[in-house]
Amino acid sequence: MYKITRKDFYTKKEMKKGKKRHWGFTCPSCKEKFSSKSHTEYCYCEEHLTGPLDEISILCSVDCVFDYLKSLSIDVDGIIKEHNKMMDKLYELDRE
Ligand SMILES: [Zn+2]
Repeated sequence: MYKITRKDFYTKKEMKKGKKRHWGFTCPSCKEKFSSKSHTEYCYCEEHLTGPLDEISILCSVDCVFDYLKSLSIDVDGIIKEHNKMMDKLYELDRE
């Protein structure tokens, strides 16, 4: 168990190149299309922290991840605060 930061809400992944077919998505935040042609990496939203997301949880950039979560009324800073408060408590219990 460990404390979390905003960085734990997403994972950057590399676009897979060299496949026969290019693949792409429409970013649910900025509505831009992004693909293995136009981007070298994308962001995957960590649903174990946010709870299940409506549609796809693949976005074109880190900014879009947080804009998207905001648009879903997911309180990222609140989740971080709650989680880390719990971690502090567990740590205290461990020491007793
Ligand atoms: Zn985007």
